[in-house]
Amino acid sequence: MPGGTDQTLRPFLWRSERFYPDTEIVSRTADGIARYTYSEYADRVRRLASALDAAGITAGDRVATFCWNHHRHFEVYFAAVTMGAQLHTINPLLPVDHVRHIINEADDRVVLVDPSLLEALEPAVESLASNPVEQFVVMGETAPETELDPVTDYESFIGSHDPAFDWPAVSEDQPAGLCYTSGTTGKPKGVEYTQQMLWTHTMATQSPQGIPIADDDVVMPIVPMFHVNAWGIPFSATAGGAKHVYPGPSPDPEDIAQLIEEENVTLSAGVPTVWLGLQEYVREHEVDLSSLDRVVVGGSAAPESMIEWFGGHGVEVLHAWGMTEMTPIGTVSHLKHDLEDESKETRIDKRSKQGLLVPGLEFRVIDDAGEQVPWDGEAFGELLVRGPWVTTEYFARPDATEEEFADGWLKTGDVVTVDPDGYVEIVDRTKDVIKSGGEWISSVELENVIMGHDAVEEATVIGVEHDRWQERPIAFVVTGDDEGTIESEVLAVLDEQFPKWWLPDDVVFIEEVPKTATGKFAKRVLREQYTDASVFDGEPPEEAAPDSE
Ligand code: AMP
Repeated sequence: MPGGTDQTLRPFLWRSERFYPDTEIVSRTADGIARYTYSEYADRVRRLASALDAAGITAGDRVATFCWNHHRHFEVYFAAVTMGAQLHTINPLLPVDHVRHIINEADDRVVLVDPSLLEALEPAVESLASNPVEQFVVMGETAPETELDPVTDYESFIGSHDPAFDWPAVSEDQPAGLCYTSGTTGKPKGVEYTQQMLWTHTMATQSPQGIPIADDDVVMPIVPMFHVNAWGIPFSATAGGAKHVYPGPSPDPEDIAQLIEEENVTLSAGVPTVWLGLQEYVREHEVDLSSLDRVVVGGSAAPESMIEWFGGHGVEVLHAWGMTEMTPIGTVSHLKHDLEDESKETRIDKRSKQGLLVPGLEFRVIDDAGEQVPWDGEAFGELLVRGPWVTTEYFARPDATEEEFADGWLKTGDVVTVDPDGYVEIVDRTKDVIKSGGEWISSVELENVIMGHDAVEEATVIGVEHDRWQERPIAFVVTGDDEGTIESEVLAVLDEQFPKWWLPDDVVFIEEVPKTATGKFAKRVLREQYTDASVFDGEPPEEAAPDSE
């Protein structure tokens, strides 16, 4: 191998421990702020790796987490990956049968779970036909009463294990991570990340055209660590030797504002919903945002008003687009240097687009006829991408389909335009999943249940724009029966089967669902007719949204 060593994550951990032993890692926990240094962090990471090793975990085994953003979760990030195992982050907001499917398919041997998420995990594990999990570890100093078995608490698990644990040699082709994403149909699909994918993604995000992080940064990822490794930020912040701040379980705008002020956060990252919440809070409270330098906004489109608002506080918005399939960063909306003298309007317009592809990736935009569209900012087509950190298959599904991949390119399902400067803008989605507050809701699953009602003739669910949650589901139903009765019955059945935030904000009764030429439901037609959730009478109750802020 001409390059000397493989592209693995070990050097990032080594670098931060040796160069920045006193830099802090801070975590908001149920018991207050936990605080230690990279030096202590690295010791605990090796103790955890040693404990996992003693529990029989070896290369290729999957270590799952069911956790919010905190220091222990961050310890699993480097321990599992650097020892050659696979870090499998599970999204605790998913419906129970998705969690069951994911644990079963991933064959997780160890699951580390937050105390506050035990109730969400237990029913999934209980209903597994055969349980692959040999050890549950509750994140804390004691394990509360639980049906999970065998169970121990995290501090006892890492106990007196060896802080001098020797890292084994690991190959760059080895799977290092696993994260599930919502499919357009059916159950979530797994995306595996090799060591090399994580390494190349970290290096690309560290470039000036990515989301570079340096040793004078204080980085707070609000995007959950169960979402594509919090967009890779725990890895890139470590590579850069930055101070880390983890906001703990379900931080609200007040918690976020407080952490920014008290820890002097310079860079934070989250979905637009998080920032809308902070904006609202800052309008009503005295908050010192002066330490904040950059905010990464992604997962859904960043509204122009948000970019302006942050700009007014001296904060640069890095609008980023990506996908679970891309580890996840694809584009970042940096302003090209020759656009810096353009009018404010042009600059904001550019920044509010999804942006320029980060170095190392290539893209194509293909129209319905299979032709590449011109870069004129008007013609649109599906975005295809390829590169070292873009997957070419789904986990445990060797039969990649033509809808998903084409000749080594990932078909993103995002419909985009490209302007003459190369800025990509998402204008639609070919996929019909709904994104509410950064979390996916499967329209297909809601439809299947609604259509299961005897008196429902046709039903479809679309996402419509929503000020706070970006998109909310609205159900369209055709029935010959009493509409009021059907609405309450349908909502009651959905309530039994799905988390509250999946429930449609409104049920609209129509004569017929519009169809395409091939007889499929033409959701695009409905989306054009119903563009804004505020036109519906049902306002979502507070809990009708993911608890992920
Ligand atoms: P996920 O795999 O959950 O990260 O979701 C990826 C999808 O989220 C993309 O294919 C887009 O449809 C959407 N997405 C991500 N970032 C953005 C963004 N900045 N603007 C609009 N949509 C986005």
